[in-house]
Amino acid sequence: MGEVYHVLIPRDPQFLPNEPDAVLQVVVRMYPAAENITLDISAGAELRDCGAHLEAIRCPSCHADIAIEDWQELMSGDYDEPRNCFRLTPVTVSCCGHRSPLNELIYVAPMGFSRCAISILSPGREALGVEELAQLSLVVGSPVMLIDRLL
Ligand SMILES: [Zn+2]
Repeated sequence: MGEVYHVLIPRDPQFLPNEPDAVLQVVVRMYPAAENITLDISAGAELRDCGAHLEAIRCPSCHADIAIEDWQELMSGDYDEPRNCFRLTPVTVSCCGHRSPLNELIYVAPMGFSRCAISILSPGREALGVEELAQLSLVVGSPVMLIDRLL
């Protein structure tokens, strides 16, 4: 059995909540049975992956599958070494020549890029529903998404 995480991030990769402590308190109330909850804030956008749940990456324009090797190449090209983060400037996908930042590709299961992430280890409950995500988004100050991560 692997480790299961729910990772909550703002959909806007650069967004930081004004009151991270208040956000953390809400998440703690939503996950009373969680093993551990941590809030991570980094200087630039980092990949927040879904681990073993990753099945496919698709082009947002023509929906063709993007091979993992191609995606890894796009990722390296977008990575800002000195700043240790992703620039998320538009990259060109080979299927149809569409230009899109890496965070706007289609990831199955969902994953994302963010400066701020709350990781919940062994959540002890199902994924947050639409209403809970809306409630949390209000406290965060920007729409939030959930990444179901299996390590
Ligand atoms: Zn395409």
